[in-house]
Amino acid sequence: MKAEIIAVGSELLTPDRVDTNSLFLTEELNKLGIEVVRKSIVGDNRDYLSAAFKEALERVELVIASGGLGPTEDDLTRETVAELLGRKLHLNNEILRYIEGRFRQLGREMPAVNVRQAMVPEGAEVLENPRGSAPGLWLEDAGRCIALLPGPPRELKPMYQEQVLPRLQRRSSNMRMFHRELRVAGMGESSVEQRIRPIYTRYAGLNTTILAAPGEIQIHLRVWTDDAAHAQKTLDEIVQGFEIALADRIFSQDGSSMEEVVAGLLTRNNSTISAAESCTGGLLAQRLTSIAGSSSYFLGGVVSYSNERKTAWADVPPELIQSKGAVSGEVAIALADGIRRHVGSTLGVGITGIAGPGGGSDEKPVGTVHIALAHAGGVKERGVLFPGDREAIRWHASQLALDLVRIHFLYNAGEPPARSAKRS
Ligand code: AMP
Ligand code: MG
Repeated sequence: MKAEIIAVGSELLTPDRVDTNSLFLTEELNKLGIEVVRKSIVGDNRDYLSAAFKEALERVELVIASGGLGPTEDDLTRETVAELLGRKLHLNNEILRYIEGRFRQLGREMPAVNVRQAMVPEGAEVLENPRGSAPGLWLEDAGRCIALLPGPPRELKPMYQEQVLPRLQRRSSNMRMFHRELRVAGMGESSVEQRIRPIYTRYAGLNTTILAAPGEIQIHLRVWTDDAAHAQKTLDEIVQGFEIALADRIFSQDGSSMEEVVAGLLTRNNSTISAAESCTGGLLAQRLTSIAGSSSYFLGGVVSYSNERKTAWADVPPELIQSKGAVSGEVAIALADGIRRHVGSTLGVGITGIAGPGGGSDEKPVGTVHIALAHAGGVKERGVLFPGDREAIRWHASQLALDLVRIHFLYNAGEPPARSAKRS
């Protein structure tokens, strides 16, 4: 079954309010194998609302709306849908008594406008709302199902769970969504696309999304089917193809972040790490220590901005800084080596670069970063020119530093490129 969600409310078209109901509903519907193919946000306007419902009902079998069931003039969902379906509205005395009772409990008399909330379109089923005054409505029309739910999430969620879910379960098929997520580092969106396109385009019914996130590319694969075994086999096959096309660039297959992956590698390999950071200002240390249990592998680090501190804290020879410049491969290597020896960790990372916006030159433009990883067997250094602003450059630098650690374990400890997928 396919569904659309209509979020009703002019406040949702302002910069102040976010439509969160549709996120909740999408997650819940997906669990039932119902695919959400479109979401709309519509202001409190009768014509727009009517058009939104009319079009949605032409496309899909299930339309769920949230909001616009309140008592005021701007709450139009009930009336608009009744009119669109050609159903008269009748006063439901039971609901009226319930709403009056709620007001009485608060020591108030029900305002006349609230009578609107007791109006029910012909043939509609009432979805009780013990947490608010606006009841929801369930309608069936020409093989289509429509659920009208109140806007406040604390009313909508339980109403969905208690009254909409059972109705949908009776109708739902065995269709399910099967999903895989791969994360890729050190490649741009278009090069990823170029390499995997010949693979994923061979599969009909496969939905592939490539998303650019800071310092990484995420690939989402989705298949909707009632044949679980076939879906898993297909996804396995595609992922294997991607593994060949992208090789060691895939760092995660279970949704874990780069720092989580690196934390796992350090822990499994009983390794420790330290960092001497310049342009990242401690960002690498921050990311390494954002994982619970990081004290078992992160021993310490320094943020050595001045040349003097690079020498004092990481043993970088002053002559080296003089001859090569603070931003150089040689200084990155000396930082990595120095901090590793100082701290006594298995691995040491050195980062130096120009995050900008000032400080660049023709020879070393803004975005120039050198990163080194020192280990017992030697040292590896990478010089790169990152695009973007200060924040982006710093993030990219920390990401590459983490990636160097990951690659180190891949080729020196026989670790697999990415842990096997969490299956859904
Ligand atoms: P209603 O009177 O039914 O239109 O709902 C009004 C209340 O519900 C307001 O506080 C809204 O901000 C909230 N609300 C309405 N729609 C949504 C939505 N899609 N997501 C989150 N909150 C919503
Ligand atoms: Mg509203």
